[in-house]
Amino acid sequence: MSSMSTPGSSEATPVVLPVSQAVLWLAGTTILALALYYFIGVDQGAVSVFGRDMHVHEFVHDARHFLGFPCH
Ligand SMILES: [Zn+2]
Repeated sequence: MSSMSTPGSSEATPVVLPVSQAVLWLAGTTILALALYYFIGVDQGAVSVFGRDMHVHEFVHDARHFLGFPCH
C-alpha cells in the first residue's frame, strides 16, 4: 500500500486503453453516430436505404423536428 493513499480515499487509477482498443472504440462510435445521424437527419429526404418505406422516418420523426432537421 502506498504511503500517500488512505483507506477509503476516492482516488481512482486512470484507465489507459491500448491503441488497438482505442481505435476500435473510436471507429465503432463513429460508425454508430453516423448511422444515427443518417436515419434521423437524412433518411426519407432525397434518399432512403429502405426505398419508399416510411417506418424509419415515422419512428424518428419527433427527434428530427426536435433537433431542427428539415422535414416537411
Ligand atoms: Zn416532420
